[in-house]
Amino acid sequence: MPRQRTVTTMCPMNCHPTLCGMTVTVADDRLVGIAGDVSNPDSEGFLCMRGKAAHEIVGNDRRLLTPLMRSRRGGDWHATDWDAALDAIAATMRAVGPGAVGFWQGHGNWANDYAFGLKRAQMDRFVNLYGCEGWNPAMVCWGLGAFGAGLTGAIETSTKEDMSANSELVILWAANTVSQANTMRHVEIAKRRGAHVVAIDIRRTEASALADEVILLRPGSDTALALAMMHVIVAEGRHDAELVAEHTLGFAELARHLAPMTPDWAAARTGLPAERIAALARRYAATRPAMIVMGGSSLHKGDNGWQAARAIACLPALTGDYGRPGGGLGPRHGGRSHGAGFADLSAADRRTAPRRIPNQMEAIVAALESGAIKVLVSIGSNILSSFPDSNRVRAALARAELVVFHDIFPNQTMREAADIVLPSTIWLEEIGAKSTNTHIHLSDRALPAAGAARPADAIYRGLAERLGVADVYPWPDQEAAMDAALDHPATGHTTVADLRAAGGRVRLKVSDVAYPTREFTTPSGKIEFVSARAAAMGLPALPECPDTAEGDGLRLAHGRTFAHFHAFYDHARALPTLAAREDAPDLWIAPADAARHGVADGSAIEVANTRGAFRARAKVTPRMPPGAVWIRDGWPGLNALTDGAAVLPDTALDAFPFSVGQSRFGARVRLRALGPDPAAGPDPAD
Ligand code: SF4
Repeated sequence: MPRQRTVTTMCPMNCHPTLCGMTVTVADDRLVGIAGDVSNPDSEGFLCMRGKAAHEIVGNDRRLLTPLMRSRRGGDWHATDWDAALDAIAATMRAVGPGAVGFWQGHGNWANDYAFGLKRAQMDRFVNLYGCEGWNPAMVCWGLGAFGAGLTGAIETSTKEDMSANSELVILWAANTVSQANTMRHVEIAKRRGAHVVAIDIRRTEASALADEVILLRPGSDTALALAMMHVIVAEGRHDAELVAEHTLGFAELARHLAPMTPDWAAARTGLPAERIAALARRYAATRPAMIVMGGSSLHKGDNGWQAARAIACLPALTGDYGRPGGGLGPRHGGRSHGAGFADLSAADRRTAPRRIPNQMEAIVAALESGAIKVLVSIGSNILSSFPDSNRVRAALARAELVVFHDIFPNQTMREAADIVLPSTIWLEEIGAKSTNTHIHLSDRALPAAGAARPADAIYRGLAERLGVADVYPWPDQEAAMDAALDHPATGHTTVADLRAAGGRVRLKVSDVAYPTREFTTPSGKIEFVSARAAAMGLPALPECPDTAEGDGLRLAHGRTFAHFHAFYDHARALPTLAAREDAPDLWIAPADAARHGVADGSAIEVANTRGAFRARAKVTPRMPPGAVWIRDGWPGLNALTDGAAVLPDTALDAFPFSVGQSRFGARVRLRALGPDPAAGPDPAD
């Protein structure tokens, strides 16, 4: 009779800040079942289709289970072992020197680590002690949004629990259910209590179903909407003069700056009627407390850049909502509560080698092109699909002497660019932890490692031993490393043993309300409408509207669906349930645009611009307004269309501990009908 046991863990996707708890049942080291963890206070038993499909990761015959090497790209792989693979990697690293080696890790390395940060710190620790380059991937994801909010002074976020208990108005500003499923349960609670819910986006998303009011604007025009709302609030004297005087800097300059940014001015940019903009501003000013939930990466890709978050973050300061229960900024991907933190094990203070390649996507690609970086170690990532202007990235990777790939499944980067492959353990084969805005959750080991799969720390330890780098892994095991990272006031100095004893989690010692003392994270300690720090970086001191002048073609916007999470699991192609759910890249097109281009629903189309071309399937839908098209991000080849130019100058990159070196990701595209037969469309496994 097999002995069954149940292990508390977390879903291996990273829908931060909510995240979902999971219990897995195993018998004789075999997975028997996965279920939502009803005792988890963040998710209360919920698992979306991605979480439910996680059982397909286990025993999946596409998994990488042995190290692989090949003598030339495009050639055949042959099996090897970890020692031989690490010997070969170390030999090349030794030959090129630390300055020509770069480490890049993606979300995939944090399937049981997100917002805890131990695995990121362990990579950084190797990078710092060895003296090579290593970059922070927040730049692909939420970094620009946090940068804009941080320049204003509002980097902390209030919790979903604060929202459901206190908010009278909730504005979902490009925040979608598929990225923050558990936040939406709290939006529903607030709504049942009587709160008004507004969804602002570029298309009718899943979150629209929850909203009393849906506002669809042109991609990239969110900044204009926020500035015009500020204009109305200030011009009509609807701001909280007392709190503005006490807790903000530069109100007089802001008021002058906003004078021309009328609702009519914003109407021309957003496509919204001026009266609608004014009505939203008046509702926002009149309803206290009001919480704005900003979206993650999709809001900040393309024309908005960081400016939308900079402007949106000014709104609660005008109405005095920061520090008020139910007000301010709500849950945001990558955002943390007041008081949150973990011990930093990255050894940043022991780095002696200067950094040569900035934390900037464009700079990383240029370094590969120039040969400044000769060895790239990719951990849990798919750089070829996640970086923009992928044709340039492909050519840059081709110049590298050695590309090392550590992951669970093959993906485009491995297939096209890697020389050595190291198989990774999955979340159930390691111990880890994930943090929401209120709890640290244990993600305990449930299964032995399959095949020769190993966690990423095996790479750092193996290379450190071969290269003679001391103190890279000073812990007896990963549980001890976790105890060191957990040793922080925010956790109450908890340990893994404490977490187990407490049923898998402890409440963090944090405030549900961001900035409860109204001391803000700026040099002045106030909300900075005028930012000298921005000016010193060469950026506008006041919130400004980026130039979104009309150009040729349709704007290409992207985002997430319930069937994928970033590049995880080869963009979910490796998980049959999710792959079947989205069997081809559907491009959302407004009926008027489809008619203009002679495109029928379900037909194959070419999406192209001067950078490249991509084949998709037309989804003609009234949920998409005219003038733009939308697609789920990450389809292999999609980023051939997007702009790889840097958004921020190097002077802005080190303002915060996260990275902001994102590229623009903007694109204007032409459509060409290829025919009515969907079979003529792309093979998503290409
Ligand atoms: S919402 Fe995100 S964390 Fe929750 S089950 Fe789905 S994929 Fe997992």
